[in-house]
Amino acid sequence: MGRAFMANERAYQAPQRPVLAVCADGWDPDYVDDALERGLMPRLGEVLSGGGTYVIGRAQVPTFTNPNNVAIVTGVSAAHNGVAGNHYRDDAGQEVQVTDPSFLRARTIHAAAHAAGVPALCVTAKDKLRRLLADGGVPSFSAECAHEQTLPDGTPLLELVGAGNPDIYDWRLSAFTIDLALAIARRLGSLLVYASLTDFVQHSAAPGEPLANSFYGAIDAALGRALDAGFVVGLAADHGMRAKTTADGSPNVRFLDDALAAAGVTGAHTLCPITDPYVVHHAALGSLAWIHLDDLGDLDRARGALASLPGVEGVLDRFAAADAFELPADRIGDLVVLADARTVLGKSRAAHDLGSLNGRLRSHGGLHERDVPIIVCQPLEPDGLAGRELYNRDLHDLLLNRLA
Ligand SMILES: [Zn+2]
Repeated sequence: MGRAFMANERAYQAPQRPVLAVCADGWDPDYVDDALERGLMPRLGEVLSGGGTYVIGRAQVPTFTNPNNVAIVTGVSAAHNGVAGNHYRDDAGQEVQVTDPSFLRARTIHAAAHAAGVPALCVTAKDKLRRLLADGGVPSFSAECAHEQTLPDGTPLLELVGAGNPDIYDWRLSAFTIDLALAIARRLGSLLVYASLTDFVQHSAAPGEPLANSFYGAIDAALGRALDAGFVVGLAADHGMRAKTTADGSPNVRFLDDALAAAGVTGAHTLCPITDPYVVHHAALGSLAWIHLDDLGDLDRARGALASLPGVEGVLDRFAAADAFELPADRIGDLVVLADARTVLGKSRAAHDLGSLNGRLRSHGGLHERDVPIIVCQPLEPDGLAGRELYNRDLHDLLLNRLA
């Protein structure tokens, strides 16, 4: 038997052969089902018919990128790891991006592996995640900024792959991320590799559209290269993706600061935890928002005004939401607003640039993007799933502890 290491009170077996865990950003199960059905992912189809596993699991709510990447790399919920959004409001009332590892309340599985002498590596498409994933001194790189990065020995990353890195709004960036991870892993001898992709394609195209077809074909080929290089390969999505539009195709948005002002609630601040630097994806519009109130005496009036908006399906107070969704109560709003499947939530009409969306809006964040694919390309032990409800945060447990 190999060595084990502990991360957040769970033991993980040190891998005997290299493991590639992929965060498949925005892979609603509909994309995977469509691509498999139409033969666009022949390598994945082959491993699934050869004993691999594909199940629908659950994502962390809110169904945004940072909370779910951090859940996957720590193996625990946001209540334990402290990351409930891409973005948050600090004690001084300033809105801040969640990029600094000091924000983490749990160590990553990769940091624990690294400390135990298991060579670990993280490669992310979006540079915004790079510093979080570097927690504990884990070598961490981004495809977005690969042209500026070097290995510890000074080798430029692009020299390893022999190609330039695609732009952040280029559909080829995710497949490039996998190839970059494989090339760095080969050079550094990494055994536990995490690759986090980007959901630009999923924000831009529905299952079956030409852009999605090209994307899933290219990813399948990259996964094939990982399998051919001897990697144990697994994937979990961070969240699903849905069209958030009215019948005429225009963005279906409720502006919550505007609605609260109209109801006479002053001193309310809507925070959109989807906010990140990649505005072409979603214009900072997602299906869940926090409301911070200057005066908690306004709580009931604010809740009433928000609950009466069409497209709002739930308004929870801070503690009810923390309890329902395993969230850190001190890092969410006084109120948590949930939109229905076709609706997104914003601050005010003036605060969001709908023009950046190229005329369509597909997004995520709420309860309707909680179902995610979890895929393991090797057979699991007979009771590997053990009848339990799986979360995307169980991916490393499956890949390190549950293989046949
Ligand atoms: Zn995402």
